[in-house]
Amino acid sequence: MQILRKSNWEGFEKTRKMKRIEIINVVKKSGLKGRSGSNFFTGLKWELMGKGTRYLICNADESEPGTFKDKFIMENNPSLLIEGIAIASYAMDIHSAIIYLRGEYFHLKPKLEKLIKQSEKHLKKIKLKIKIVLGAGSYLCGEETAILESIEGNRPLVRKKPPYPSQSGLYGKPTCINNVETLANIPLIILGNWDNNLQLFSLSGDLNEPGIYEIELGMPLKHIVSLGKPKNEPKAVYFGGSGGCIPYQKFKNLRVDNELISEKGGFLGARGLIIVGENRDIVDISRTLSEFFVHESCGYCTPCREGNFRVVELLEKIENNKAKKDDVKLLEQLAYHISDTSYCALGVASTTHLKCALKYFKKEFKV
Ligand code: SF4
Repeated sequence: MQILRKSNWEGFEKTRKMKRIEIINVVKKSGLKGRSGSNFFTGLKWELMGKGTRYLICNADESEPGTFKDKFIMENNPSLLIEGIAIASYAMDIHSAIIYLRGEYFHLKPKLEKLIKQSEKHLKKIKLKIKIVLGAGSYLCGEETAILESIEGNRPLVRKKPPYPSQSGLYGKPTCINNVETLANIPLIILGNWDNNLQLFSLSGDLNEPGIYEIELGMPLKHIVSLGKPKNEPKAVYFGGSGGCIPYQKFKNLRVDNELISEKGGFLGARGLIIVGENRDIVDISRTLSEFFVHESCGYCTPCREGNFRVVELLEKIENNKAKKDDVKLLEQLAYHISDTSYCALGVASTTHLKCALKYFKKEFKV
């Protein structure tokens, strides 16, 4: 795997002989985009940073259902991540970096802290301090401005943009937020012989061999699914909890990339694919996912807070054969209303799975 290659700080040492703008240009030229699913050009993000005291935050709050690739990197090649943080900090003239670690990944904290200590001789050269802040298990903190609120000790509500964190982020200072996989690729880009198309996929669901696979973007869906060795005939593929789903049989030859999945109504996002077998009930999956969003809603805005609660009620009625004739229509209207009117991305994406299920598997929503 490309992401398991070792750099042993060679990438960092190479950048020490380069000007900051040269490093940023190398990253820009590489075409690297945020691997959290944001797909924003990383080099451009670095270039847009405001002046004065600045911060770097490594977003390690990986909490999308079915996604565990950042955990894989932190478990199997964490030194590449620490080196990537050092190079990014040096390129942006940053002296304070924070790894915002998902609460459920608490077992990784001592290992990362030990590694940071062992890396001190390198970090001292650029006067960089790296600290770890442990999240408290909120899905919303995967959103970059909610992370800022969380680190500042506030309730993690999403901030309005603009201003963007690159101008006014942590404590009102310019802040760059990059995710684990994005930063871990930086030393490899600097060393060269790096392939932007090789990306980590988390495969889970009805598979005999779930796990992390490094796959070339654009591979047919059937090739990707076959790597996980399905237990039975796949019925649908879900893209995490918020990226919707597509029917497997209809789209098994579809090339998996961001644009083509979006054309079908889904969102590839952080490449967490949940394979659903032929014996699964789509209504049951829809209810489970909607319950997840009810649990994770911060409660700030009505469409997300109340709407998803009503969605669960309607899905329960359908499952228990108590739904009335117009309930499926109401469910569909609610799904669009929630995504059209919610305040933040959590609410907007909370019904993508339902819209896709109603688009492709409507026959299963029996009244
Ligand atoms: S959409 Fe509204 S209620 Fe839901 S998480 Fe965002 S701000 Fe909170």
